[in-house]
Amino acid sequence: MRAKPDTAEAALQVRAIYAEWESRPIQRHCTGIADCCRFKLTGRTPYLTRGEALVAARAWKAAGRKDVVVPADGSCPFLHPHTGKCRIYDGRPFGCRTHFCEVAGGPAHRNDVRDLIQRLEDIDIRLGGSGAVNLPTAAKEAMDRAK
Ligand code: SF4
Repeated sequence: MRAKPDTAEAALQVRAIYAEWESRPIQRHCTGIADCCRFKLTGRTPYLTRGEALVAARAWKAAGRKDVVVPADGSCPFLHPHTGKCRIYDGRPFGCRTHFCEVAGGPAHRNDVRDLIQRLEDIDIRLGGSGAVNLPTAAKEAMDRAK
């Protein structure tokens, strides 16, 4: 019988991948203006592996939240409606760190992220996932699984 994946361990591994990305000498300039978090505005939504969704859901729960509610304007459910700040910034997904902001430098070069994405995909498989899922759906599923 296959062992149940250790979600705490998986979350640590995902955070280690984020830390490794942040330590790479690649210039990023996230200014927190959050335009990339307004998915209808950009026409692009981040896709999350299960491990990323797990880290986001844990951060959301740590902030005392029980549910993920998608705003009517189609923005990210983690975006604060008044301050325009990410409410899980420390636990935000990989795509938010590497791909979704022209101001921050545009999409990271594939060669700079390929190995880290592979590790995220390996964790996804270990957690029973079958590939990345759009952020609102992935986050809701992660919250449900953690209930
Ligand atoms: S998780 Fe945070 S940084 Fe990523 S899209 Fe949502 S609000 Fe923006």
